[in-house]
Amino acid sequence: MTARVLDGARIADEIRAEIRPRIDSFTARMGRPPGLGIVLVGDDPASEIYVRNKLKAAAESGVRADLARLPATASLSEALAVVDRLNGSEAHDGILVQSPLPDAMGPDAERRIFDAILPEKDVDGFHPVNVGRLVQNRAGLVAGTPSGVIELLERSQVAIRGRRAVVIGRSDIVGKPMALLLLHRDATVTICHSRTVDLPAVAREADILVAAVGRPAFISREFVKPGAAVVGTTRVDEAGFVERIYPVGSPRREAFAKRGSLVVGDVHPEVADVAGALSPVPGGVGPLTIVMLLKNTTFAAEQRCSGSR
Ligand code: NAP
Repeated sequence: MTARVLDGARIADEIRAEIRPRIDSFTARMGRPPGLGIVLVGDDPASEIYVRNKLKAAAESGVRADLARLPATASLSEALAVVDRLNGSEAHDGILVQSPLPDAMGPDAERRIFDAILPEKDVDGFHPVNVGRLVQNRAGLVAGTPSGVIELLERSQVAIRGRRAVVIGRSDIVGKPMALLLLHRDATVTICHSRTVDLPAVAREADILVAAVGRPAFISREFVKPGAAVVGTTRVDEAGFVERIYPVGSPRREAFAKRGSLVVGDVHPEVADVAGALSPVPGGVGPLTIVMLLKNTTFAAEQRCSGSR
């Protein structure tokens, strides 16, 4: 079997074309475009690239995106002050604080900053209020990667209702929201993690297998039931990790050194021989994550300004 390709790049284009008229109509109605404030603390090379890509995607879609930069030495209260300013800004409908924050800010800095963003401007969907809404299956702002995976499945005609779904990974930003989104579409969902016993056997029960593990090529053919739909979401931006898997002189290692990140799938390429459908790397989940951010910003702008003018 050679798996059908779940074409994230094409679907991201499709969604971009759908939100464009909403952005244009908002801009015409309000006399300003939807606005996104991005906060970048420090000089992590991978974060620089992610932020650059987000700024570019926003500009191309007619969304205003402003970057607030803080040095790696910034204190938590300085970062909170930037969030506070963006919370109060009329021009900004969405706020995104690029993760990770510098270690020096302290272990709970990310949580404190995400909690400080107004829920109605939380376009990453990380605020507890938005997570609570997701748990209750109420419309709201949902994290981009898991909602992008749902778009990928649904728009590729992968049936979800009544099927067995296995999500490998239980993080607050990918694994848990992913499982909830599948549950709300009537899948029977199992969440796996590093303590799951006999992971390949559990994964093989899946009609839909979503890997949010962060381990390149971790999902081999023994994890996959023949014909299953398989989606992987890895993005590697840790130098030590890249050095462990790619030998000195490897072009992939050089690409990492140049760009600061490398897209390497959780799913081993051999899975294409077993799966019925598979997300490619690159061109799978990555493009959808960014377009879902723009969709969330548009939604946040529409909600904030509904009733005005
Ligand atoms: P994370 O916080 O590191 O979570 C990884 C999860 O995988 C954890 O729940 C962990 O289990 C589980 N895990 C690790 N090793 C495992 C093993 N050997 N067996 C079973 N489970 C294992 O990562 P994340 O933030 O959720 O991100 C997941 C992946 O998505 C990453 O590769 C990330 O780069 C990628 N991502 C991509 C995009 C994009 O734009 N494409 C955006 C966001 C994230 P425990 O909980 O037990 O530790």
